[in-house]
Amino acid sequence: MRASQLFFPTLREVPAEAEMISHRLLLRGGFIRKVAAGIYDYLPLGYKVIKKIEKVVREEMDAQGAQEILMPAIVPAELYQETGRWNLDVLFRLKDRNDRDYSIGFTHEEVVTDIIRRDLRSYRQLPLNLYQIQSKGRDEARPRGGTVRGREFIMLDAYSFDRTWDDLDRAYDKMYAAFSRTFARCGLAPLVVEAESGAIGGKENQEYMVVADSGEDIILVCEKCGYAANAEKAEIGERPVKKSDDELQPLELVDTPNARTIEQVTSFLKRSPKKLVKTLIYKAGEQVVAALVRGDRDLNEAKLASMLGVKSVEMADPETILRVTKADVGFAGPVGLDKSVKIVADREVQGMMNFVVGGNKTDAHYINANIGRDFEVSEFGDLRVASKGDPCARCENTLTTVRGMEVGHIFKLGTLYSEKMGAGFLDDDGQEKPFIMGCYGMGVSRMLAAIPEVNSDQDGMVWPISVAPFEVVVILLNPDDEAQCNAATRLYEELQQQGVDVLLDERDERPGVKFKDTDLMGAPIQVVAGRLAGEGKVEVRLRSTKSKEEISIDDATAHVLELRRKLYQESEDKAQAVAVNPQLH
Ligand code: ATP
Ligand code: MG
Repeated sequence: MRASQLFFPTLREVPAEAEMISHRLLLRGGFIRKVAAGIYDYLPLGYKVIKKIEKVVREEMDAQGAQEILMPAIVPAELYQETGRWNLDVLFRLKDRNDRDYSIGFTHEEVVTDIIRRDLRSYRQLPLNLYQIQSKGRDEARPRGGTVRGREFIMLDAYSFDRTWDDLDRAYDKMYAAFSRTFARCGLAPLVVEAESGAIGGKENQEYMVVADSGEDIILVCEKCGYAANAEKAEIGERPVKKSDDELQPLELVDTPNARTIEQVTSFLKRSPKKLVKTLIYKAGEQVVAALVRGDRDLNEAKLASMLGVKSVEMADPETILRVTKADVGFAGPVGLDKSVKIVADREVQGMMNFVVGGNKTDAHYINANIGRDFEVSEFGDLRVASKGDPCARCENTLTTVRGMEVGHIFKLGTLYSEKMGAGFLDDDGQEKPFIMGCYGMGVSRMLAAIPEVNSDQDGMVWPISVAPFEVVVILLNPDDEAQCNAATRLYEELQQQGVDVLLDERDERPGVKFKDTDLMGAPIQVVAGRLAGEGKVEVRLRSTKSKEEISIDDATAHVLELRRKLYQESEDKAQAVAVNPQLH
């Protein structure tokens, strides 16, 4: 490709709306353009990167025996209705001319399960893994970071079908290898973290998190034992309770007019949120539950549900709150609560004394409340969202936090979808059994941003060779100089003949502009045909280290081929090093 013909509208100014580094660089380099919130064009360079990421994905998925299909982007409502997902907020819904409902596919568990339910009958046809690379539509509340969180985005989604749980473990390990190898080859070294399965249920699941300050997720990490989990999931270790040796103070009901939130109560009573206990009223089925956490902590609903042995909990409605607390929302507390309510508390609350709680009376709070004297707790446990400094659940260390950007999520679904959708097979004992499923999603267009988000410098993007828009850029500094022109053209043609993806920058532009554009674009190898060409030499540079070497024109092609081979070898070495799941073996 010749740069004079390439459409890459670079920008000198940093677009005001772009906050993330990758977003700025992709816009400046002419890789993407915004069409609407969360909806982007991929221009030639951006789309080349996407296609190269997809190529790596296909190679790794195929190597694990997965088979590529393409499911429809338009999904009839009935399929999502079968599993109760038709009403999710993220669905883009549409109607046909006959008023039938459809949505743009946002993930394809139902569609793929329908394929299998129709056409797969016997255990002999298992295991099976089907994948696709496709544009998804999700009406995200907060699209951000260019292609990081789009409303239309490209995703790899794979689905495994197995006969036994052991077979699912094997299928999952294969996808672990495919995902880990893909990320390594794309220049990413994501942390693999335990994740919450949320409403989907299921067994193990892990997220691949690229560590970046701009990431939306908070990950708890133990630097000692290697435990890593999403904040939604991270367990907090149990430690002996330290009761302070303060004297018990008398319980007192005080007026707190209009003070409902923690901030309002703490500023009104002039006490630290650490001396407050929040009382959150939930419903677990018919049971009303009061969950207590320290004032500066957040309750983790998944942990509450798991303590109560239910799938999910929901916040109680205002009528229920009024019934059990006899007060408006915002004044619930454990003292004198309706007897039908079960009181549970985060372990941290066990060590607290003389704390503030809601008064179960509008505009009032108790001060100096104490467990045992003023109310009883039926169970203590790990109920709060883990935060920095919390004890590790796997060793004696404490947890730290990093921010992460989720680029992949692998999931043992089990029989959740196959049971809801009546998808089963005949086993060798003649019994009809539900398929045991896994699902595996990777954010291909999010990777277009994640890669430069963590691989860039002050001059621009630094692409790993496997997914760079070009492997090599040959810069012809002065197109009017015959020696430079001959050298550049010769190397360009020789490299092309060797199958190298090479760009020749022969534009009629100042050298400074060419260097700037080349660095911004971030191809890993640069060959400069400049003044040295008169002496029969060119300069070969590496984008990542900025190293430069003078090489004779006759040797330059062989030299570049060797550099390219080494770069691919390095990425393959990294891929091999990460292919086994250390958390499960
Ligand atoms: P997130 O928590 O970031 O919203 P998710 O849990 O909704 O992700 P999945 O449904 O598991 O994500 O999708 C699989 C992968 O697709 C994610 O790991 C992520 O890399 C990518 N992805 C999800 N939503 C988007 C989006 N709106 N834009 C771009 N990529 C996305
Ligand atoms: Mg999401």
